[in-house]
Amino acid sequence: SAKASGRNCARLFDPSDPLTSDESENIAALLKIAIDQDLVSMVYQPICNVASGRIDAVEALMRLKMLDGTAVPPSLFIPIAERTGVILELGRWAIRTVCREILAVDRVPVVSVNVSPIQLKSPGFAASVAAILGETGVAGARLALEITEGLEMEMHSDVLRCISDLKTLGVRIWLDDFGTGFAGLSWLRLIDFDTVKIDRSFLHDCDTPRGKAMLRDIIGLVRNRGHKILVEGVETEDQMGLMRQFRIDQVQGFHVGRPKLAENLRLKAAAGAHLTRA
Ligand code: C2E
Ligand code: MG
Ligand code: MG
Ligand code: MG
Repeated sequence: SAKASGRNCARLFDPSDPLTSDESENIAALLKIAIDQDLVSMVYQPICNVASGRIDAVEALMRLKMLDGTAVPPSLFIPIAERTGVILELGRWAIRTVCREILAVDRVPVVSVNVSPIQLKSPGFAASVAAILGETGVAGARLALEITEGLEMEMHSDVLRCISDLKTLGVRIWLDDFGTGFAGLSWLRLIDFDTVKIDRSFLHDCDTPRGKAMLRDIIGLVRNRGHKILVEGVETEDQMGLMRQFRIDQVQGFHVGRPKLAENLRLKAAAGAHLTRA
């Protein structure tokens, strides 16, 4: 089996390429040992406040590598982690890691972490977040949890109670990938999200009158309901100009910065602190 996985490692993972069942099984096995073997890590992508131009948050994104160092994209391993249930352990590990390596030591005001519906439905999730915040001494208001609207998630009373318990801790709740599924509007009716992240697919044709009108209407809908708006996937200065014109609160995308390891974020904070003292 080590030999088989060795062969599969040579393949570069393309998320648009369906996995063979062997590869799926290999990833499922890998996920079980990932935390112990140091195969998972978190990277952090800057989120820019449009009005001030400052980085006022970062999104934490999970990375997985195989034993030979080949990277497996989250679009491939997260669904496997959800199917096998490992997501519960990985999800707790992610929040603890974010609290330890960024929130407890860095000056970034808010870090957002993606959570799977399986985590929100599991009993004791809010309590486990409370425990991690307590153990790391991090204020709940510095943690945001992103719920992806594209994913199927029944409007379970358990989920709604979990979200309300998280809000009691001060934790912010963000809606991710808004506009990609059919559930988003129902979620907006039920949950008072702090921030709604508009999916990056809306930027693809924002240089056409139709695309621009569509984006404007989506923004109006979200803004009229009192949520802050973050647009994902801003890649060009033209798109950035449109964001200023539309008075978007926050933007995220390669134009602002790519995801980085914690130590690289920390370097920046240290340099900033030095400049302030000088
Ligand atoms: P997401 O939460 O919507 O995260 C944003 C994704 O868009 C990230 O991909 C990021 O690298 C990418 N991105 C950011 N800016 C740009 C841009 O300007 N252009 C383009 N083309 N892409 C951009 P990534 O890291 O591959 O993650 C994919 C998805 O996997 C995430 O989408 C999220 O749903 C899921 N994911 C990642 N980490 C975790 C995690 O810790 N837990 C859970 N449950 N899901 C996660
Ligand atoms: Mg996200
Ligand atoms: Mg997400
Ligand atoms: Mg997203």
